[in-house]
Amino acid sequence: MHKTHPLIADLRSDTVTQPTSAMRAVMAAAPVGDDVFGDDPSINALQDKLAAMLGFDAALFVPTGTQSNLCAILAHCQRGDEYIVGQYAHTYRWEGGGAAVLGSVQPQPLNHQPDGTLALDDIEAAIKPDDVHFAKTRLLTLENTFGGKWLPFDYVQAATELAAHHGLARHLDGARLFNAAVAQAISAAGVAVPPSQAAIVAEARRIAQCFDSVSVCLSKGLGAPVGSVLCGSADLIKKAHRIRKMAGGGMRQAGLLAAAGSHVLDHHLTRLADDHALAARLASGLQGLPGVQVEPPQTNMVFVDLIGNAKARAPELLAYLQQYGVLATGLYRLRFVTHLDVDQAGIDHAVAAIRAFFK
Ligand SMILES: *Cc1c(COP(=O)(O)O)cnc(C)c1O
Repeated sequence: MHKTHPLIADLRSDTVTQPTSAMRAVMAAAPVGDDVFGDDPSINALQDKLAAMLGFDAALFVPTGTQSNLCAILAHCQRGDEYIVGQYAHTYRWEGGGAAVLGSVQPQPLNHQPDGTLALDDIEAAIKPDDVHFAKTRLLTLENTFGGKWLPFDYVQAATELAAHHGLARHLDGARLFNAAVAQAISAAGVAVPPSQAAIVAEARRIAQCFDSVSVCLSKGLGAPVGSVLCGSADLIKKAHRIRKMAGGGMRQAGLLAAAGSHVLDHHLTRLADDHALAARLASGLQGLPGVQVEPPQTNMVFVDLIGNAKARAPELLAYLQQYGVLATGLYRLRFVTHLDVDQAGIDHAVAAIRAFFK
């Protein structure tokens, strides 16, 4: 596609961020070693840091969130076991069926409720009795945030307690756990004041402690270039470590990347509130446009549906926006994601371009 305008707001995903100069300096200075021998001090420091933040014994640095979820599911489940998962969850829909392909672990997908949760009754009904006809239901996986929505904490507690009651393990795909923690902290405080580092970590830990394992992406809103971390018990992480090696994820002097991860955990948690505020600004800027239905954003993602006469115009809108230096995605619905590298002027430009399209 011919571009007539420099890129102003790349709202396709929060993965598009460039490393900051402070981050690059930390990476350049990071002490490194061969992590397959367990010798990389920067990787060990990152793993210890996130495990301590979230209240787990151990953690494992992995190249991607996909590999992190795969290591978790295969560490919890054996061949022929089954995991319960949302129909639109990343671990089920967006990871190439890895748990089934590589682990012979059968997914049991469930439809989502409008708030993103899986109904407790549906979870309970999906747990198979101990009978030779059935796969052994072994694991419940939830995702928080899910489609930009944070799961109500009471729900997280109830769903994970239900799973434990039935002897299931619990895994959280917390790719954007800290976005959920920021929104939850603001909701708990009852005022829209950006929460402190300590408040965010406390909420993230409260969520994480409902689970046996938690995967966190460093390369989404946190802004690191590469990497995820899987947290769990020492025993679970030992199993996950073997699977990571099998999956080709044993990296060597990857402390360069882990140092960026530690940097963003120290410096980029509180700024997630800025992303949420910009998403709210984008959504409110689109109010009242005929044919445009905006879902009120809860974190850093704005979903927009085109309705009525505008229904089929998504590809045309995306191409139009690209000419004005605004990028978004439209696989199922139009999606605009805010992050470190977009500011208020960029959002206001995006709003103006969308409004101009519908003029
Ligand atoms: C991005 C993402 C992942 C992991 O994706 P990778 O691209 O493999 O790092 C996992 N779960 C969710 C919800 C995600 O958004």
